[in-house]
Amino acid sequence: MLKELTKQFTIRRSVVTALDRVDLDTPAGAFVALLGPSGCGKSTILRILADLEQPTSGTAFVHGEAPSQTRRNHHLGIAFQDAALLPWRSVTANIRLPLQVSGVKVDDAAVAELIKLVGLEGFEQARPAQLSGGMRQRVAIARALVVEPRILLLDEPFGALDEMTRQRLNLELQRIWTERATTTLLVTHSITEAVFLADTVAVMSPRPGRIVAQVDIDLPRPRTPQMLRTQRFHELEDQLSALLFGGTTA
Ligand code: ADP
Ligand code: MG
Repeated sequence: MLKELTKQFTIRRSVVTALDRVDLDTPAGAFVALLGPSGCGKSTILRILADLEQPTSGTAFVHGEAPSQTRRNHHLGIAFQDAALLPWRSVTANIRLPLQVSGVKVDDAAVAELIKLVGLEGFEQARPAQLSGGMRQRVAIARALVVEPRILLLDEPFGALDEMTRQRLNLELQRIWTERATTTLLVTHSITEAVFLADTVAVMSPRPGRIVAQVDIDLPRPRTPQMLRTQRFHELEDQLSALLFGGTTA
């Protein structure tokens, strides 16, 4: 998916290396978590995959397509920490938006099914201001899925929510991912979230961002809240924590 990806930003006359030869392989259909401290370049990776930013060197591709092709072919869905919904549009109208923007015919039944999938039945006509933060993020995820993307990019989608809502939405996200079987790349700085959701966790170092390790999560699916208290779960958390904070991997 990423090969020797390097990204430098030039600020005035100094060059900041945000990403330094990042390699990342993701099997099609997998749930991949990108775990790293703030400022290590996680969002930059997503922005490059979404064709919002160009790499300085190296290549990015998704299912054999360059980001520009992925975007042109509407194979990409993306949701950020801030749901960024249009306040004057209803839930339904917000979810339909990517199809309208790209001139694709809106399939009302498919939109209705998505609303059901993310648990927003009964709120079809509500405006974003009438929804809780968690509900707004559900709308953002439905909007990302409406184009039936090959890859779903999630940048700390529940990062601004309280812990309980976040746990509930992570369970929902697992269910949605299971039903849709879309390759998913989730950016997070939560070790627990990464272990709970991912098939494989790519651990990044502080700037310049590098992938220091890729750890496969061998917990069975579906993952349940009870698993959070199992020994294996804690072992995986410890392993990731050591990679993140141990400083033994430089
Ligand atoms: P993360 O999402 O892991 O917190 P980012 O990808 O947002 O990190 O940022 C990685 C680094 O690149 C940071 O040091 C940030 O300051 C820098 N950076 C990101 N975008 C820009 C930009 N448009 N111009 C200059 N520097 C940037
Ligand atoms: Mg970020």
